Amino acid sequence: MTMQCQNCDVLVIGLGPAGAVAAAEAAKAGLKTIGFDGKSRAGYPVQCAEFVPSLLTNETLAAYHQSQQLIDKMVTFVEDELPDEKIPFSGRIIDREKFDAELCEIAKNCGAELHFGKKLIKLDGNKAVFSDGTSVIAKVIIGADGPHSFVGKSVGLINNETLETRQITIQLLSPIKSTDIYLSAKYIGGYGWLFPKNETANLGIGVAHEKRHLLKPLLEELHSRLIAEGRVGSEILYTTGGAIPVGGMIKPYAKSGDATIILAGDAAGLTNPISGAGIPAAVVSGRMAGETAASLLNGNIEAAEDYEQELHELFGTSLKRARAHFEKLLAIHKDGVPNPAQLRNGWIAYDEYWSEKFNNDAKGETYDLLEA
Ligand SMILES: Cc1cc2nc3c(=O)[nH]c(=O)nc-3n(C[C@H](O)[C@H](O)[C@H](O)COP(=O)(O)OP(=O)(O)OC[C@H]3O[C@@H](n4cnc5c(N)ncnc54)[C@H](O)[C@@H]3O)c2cc1C
Repeated sequence: MTMQCQNCDVLVIGLGPAGAVAAAEAAKAGLKTIGFDGKSRAGYPVQCAEFVPSLLTNETLAAYHQSQQLIDKMVTFVEDELPDEKIPFSGRIIDREKFDAELCEIAKNCGAELHFGKKLIKLDGNKAVFSDGTSVIAKVIIGADGPHSFVGKSVGLINNETLETRQITIQLLSPIKSTDIYLSAKYIGGYGWLFPKNETANLGIGVAHEKRHLLKPLLEELHSRLIAEGRVGSEILYTTGGAIPVGGMIKPYAKSGDATIILAGDAAGLTNPISGAGIPAAVVSGRMAGETAASLLNGNIEAAEDYEQELHELFGTSLKRARAHFEKLLAIHKDGVPNPAQLRNGWIAYDEYWSEKFNNDAKGETYDLLEA
């Protein structure tokens, strides 16, 4: 039996928020667009704490449609000190599975052809080969395949630093409207979080990749503390985790044979190295990647360079600031143990985080959706 080989204008690898939005945008421009994801269905399994800032509804109404509950403040617990409140801090907890699924539905309605349960296993020039043996030849290939992007690796564009996470979903014994953050010298390179979702909550911890063996005991310890405080139940309803790119933005385009490669979302290293937030950047860069594909295929040979420039303008300042804080905290860990003041200094809820000057401070506008 001969395996099927198709041609298309735009091939999208990965149908998380970045890929789904990119596919919608390319299809909307009238391009023959095909998307693939290794997952058997959109958005599942969920690897996310499901918080998005309010401003994301300006980009996609899916954030509104799939809203589960509103958030109006951030409460930060630093070691065993009294908590600090940041008010207002507005956002929503979404149903991430339904959010991703809605974005894929939108892409299909725009005319994109989407396939699930098929993983990219080979990229040979402009030809992509999938786990079921099918292959696709494309003019533009959008790599929206997450932190360990296969597309990126194939052209030497690699996220070389990641944070590792572990998260459980548990019962919340009384409702809260805050995202609760736990800062501790024990959470090297990361932090703990309790994000409410009505009667349940996502409780997780992120740490530097080399410390990932500590995730399970650290999360068990935080869970026990919250049980003892009477805030959450002991039953674990769901366990997940995953990598978060923390190295900052990488070059988001390259050539692969005749095809132009464009990276978006986590694949392009757009997730904030301090907060770990990446959904807004995935949605925004996905839209821009789809627009870039259309512009390239319309004859604008500078479209990919323009894309890189625009990403820098939108995300560069906040990513550089976060990266500088991240490096500073890791350096403190190398010499000893960060004290509570140093932990606060490196977290987005505190004025010190925003006012500190670093050598790599970029000039220009910040489009940090978390600042909203
Ligand atoms: C535990 C955890 C909690 C988080 N919480 C938040 C949060 O509360 N708020 C927030 O803003 N961000 C959060 N993030 C980050 C956020 O989830 C990501 O930044 C976001 O999902 C990036 O979207 P994306 O589309 O770029 O990549 P992804 O959502 O990772 O999508 C990539 C897709 O590519 C597919 N794929 C990968 N390889 C292949 C292949 N070879 N072939 C085909 N398909 C492939 C995957 O199956 C996946 O569906 C969290 C991350 C983790 C790990």
